[in-house]
Amino acid sequence: MNIGFYGNRYEEERRLDEPYDEWIERIKTQEESYINLPMNKEEYEDFINELVNSETVILHEFEKSEIFEGCMPIEVMAKRGKDTLRFGPLKPVGFTDKRTGRRPYSVVQLRQDNKEGTLYNLVGFQTNLKYGEQKRVFSKIPGLENANFVKYGVMHRNTYINSTKLLDNTYNLKSDKRIYFAGQITGVEGYVESISSGFVAGINSCNQFEGKEKTIYDKQTVIGALSEYISNKHEDFQPMNANFGILPELPEKIKDKKERYNCLAKRSLGIIKNSLRKLVKKH
Ligand SMILES: Cc1cc2nc3c(=O)[nH]c(=O)nc-3n(C[C@H](O)[C@H](O)[C@H](O)COP(=O)(O)OP(=O)(O)OC[C@H]3O[C@@H](n4cnc5c(N)ncnc54)[C@H](O)[C@@H]3O)c2cc1C
Repeated sequence: MNIGFYGNRYEEERRLDEPYDEWIERIKTQEESYINLPMNKEEYEDFINELVNSETVILHEFEKSEIFEGCMPIEVMAKRGKDTLRFGPLKPVGFTDKRTGRRPYSVVQLRQDNKEGTLYNLVGFQTNLKYGEQKRVFSKIPGLENANFVKYGVMHRNTYINSTKLLDNTYNLKSDKRIYFAGQITGVEGYVESISSGFVAGINSCNQFEGKEKTIYDKQTVIGALSEYISNKHEDFQPMNANFGILPELPEKIKDKKERYNCLAKRSLGIIKNSLRKLVKKH
């Protein structure tokens, strides 16, 4: 821990005019959910070099097809360019290196994985590296030289149906209306996204059973935009997370990203409130 430090991104960053001692005092009482391991340029480049030259597992034929951009293995990302990881999972923004008092060149984050704080996982380190290689290469991260590796990374497969052809925007199977799909298998990705699809599918199976009209959420809400996304034709249908990019644009151009997102969220919440009122009346 003379290299690593606890804290959340942005909260512990040293302010421009903040004296070093005051900053050290302030960060003494920070939350302990994350341990951050800073690297300087040389350390980062050594690590990338080891990573791109490491040995990966031999994939089965059925595992070879596409890799989801949102879950790219760390060694594949590193091969795309030496700075790719510094702008991805190893980005240093929002942190200050205790050793220098300045923003580090890159940061590896460890997230607490059990209540006791004895287990931590490496954030964003999806990998196909062989187990022995994971231990060898990840031990080169400054601060992890003596870490015990209790569980190694394994790539996961995300199986989903071709909803764009098979489902309508209530997650109902077009060819057999008695069947609804819900969750990641429909091509949504993530906890809340999966819940949202289950919610829409559940409400609509009740509607169908009771002979009521369908409940379809407006495309201007994320819940509606997701069901629209999975049920419409795409060139390249890939699992979709909730994000502002799937919402239709606002009528006015707002340059400031934060303000634009705020407006999109407000518009969506207004619609959701209205539809909830209707839904409560209906049931
Ligand atoms: C390593 C990893 C990290 C992730 N991190 C995040 C994250 O940080 N944030 C986030 O939002 N999402 C994350 N996700 C994605 C998230 O976990 C999934 O999108 C979500 O759990 C999908 O929920 P689901 O209920 O649709 O499917 P699942 O949770 O996969 O549930 C499907 C269930 O069906 C069972 N099942 C399968 N076949 C059968 C069968 N034939 N008979 C009976 N049961 C069966 C399975 O055992 C499983 O329990 C992560 C996923 C992985 C793998």
